[in-house]
Amino acid sequence: MSEKMQAVVKTQPALGAEWLSVDLPRISPDQVLVKVKATSICGTDVHIYKWDPWSDGRIGRENLPQILGHEVAGEVVEVGNQVRTVKVGDYISAETHIPCRRCIQCLTGQEHICANLSILGVDCDGAFAEYFAIPESVCWLNDKAIPPEFASVQEPLGNATYAVLGEDNDVAGKSMAIIGDGPIALFSVGVARVCGVTNIFLVGKYDFNMDIGKRMGADHLLYANRDDVDRIQYIMDHTYGYGADIVLDMAGSPQALDEGFKVLRKGGRFTAFGVASVSPTPIDYNNGIVFKGAQVHGINGRRMFDTWFRVRNMLASGRLNIAPVISHLYSLKEYERGFEVMMERPRKSAKVVLFPDRGEYEKAKARMS
Ligand SMILES: [Zn+2]
Ligand SMILES: [Zn+2]
Repeated sequence: MSEKMQAVVKTQPALGAEWLSVDLPRISPDQVLVKVKATSICGTDVHIYKWDPWSDGRIGRENLPQILGHEVAGEVVEVGNQVRTVKVGDYISAETHIPCRRCIQCLTGQEHICANLSILGVDCDGAFAEYFAIPESVCWLNDKAIPPEFASVQEPLGNATYAVLGEDNDVAGKSMAIIGDGPIALFSVGVARVCGVTNIFLVGKYDFNMDIGKRMGADHLLYANRDDVDRIQYIMDHTYGYGADIVLDMAGSPQALDEGFKVLRKGGRFTAFGVASVSPTPIDYNNGIVFKGAQVHGINGRRMFDTWFRVRNMLASGRLNIAPVISHLYSLKEYERGFEVMMERPRKSAKVVLFPDRGEYEKAKARMS
């Protein structure tokens, strides 16, 4: 194996990243080395690529250079001497949140909100490379029936699954309003459909993404940036006047929060996933939560590993087809095109998947055409 590899490296605290030849990662005894088959661009990567104030505070310019990326599928090529359950040749993805396994959350089944969380591609080198290193504890064995371009996006798909199902998985036969039309909102539409939500409202802005939402199974499309329809009244009219049983906020805008709490029925569940652009952000606490008897569920990460089992089953069974959300495929070397497409507004992309290996890229293109 050559000791050098190509990688997308964040080198400067400014827009962009560089395509560089770097040393192959050295694994520690509890880690495995993975040859990347597919890796996808997340909103987090876009923040880092742009180097916005969040990146400057969270990563810090003193920690550059760093390899970007965390959503991944690949093959294990080497294992550390303490690794017990993962073997060379295994086809894996990675839970990108690496928990400490010592804090109260970790010890009580809430590892996804660990107090000392380390995130792949944020706190350490990531997966936009030919190879990456990851602890055995967060390796996820993929089903071979799931192609790399789908296996790579299981991490955000897990977020969507957790957002849709909440803590009680009580969604069958219910109505759900999903606010936002980014990739995780579009995945949520598909998961909601597969899990038996019977009336799905998708509130978004962009035709390209709303069309994907329709193909993923949304029953109603409502435009957040048009006033031809009274969105609140529309949802009331289509839920027997009660409002939606469940609202997923995946936008975080003041309008999304305002309308989201208004269309939530009494006793319903409001799932807070969108990150508000300003914090603190105002909400109608009395009417939106207290008098409604609403449950509010914040989502940060995915239940480990509950959502991974569900996601694998939904994908491997073919029940959930996420192909409409995978809007662009590029070779890893073309990462700049991938980021440009992600940053373009009006939005004309959902999920962008990158391939370090030419052969994997060609096979994926053939599958998706
Ligand atoms: Zn991600
Ligand atoms: Zn912890």
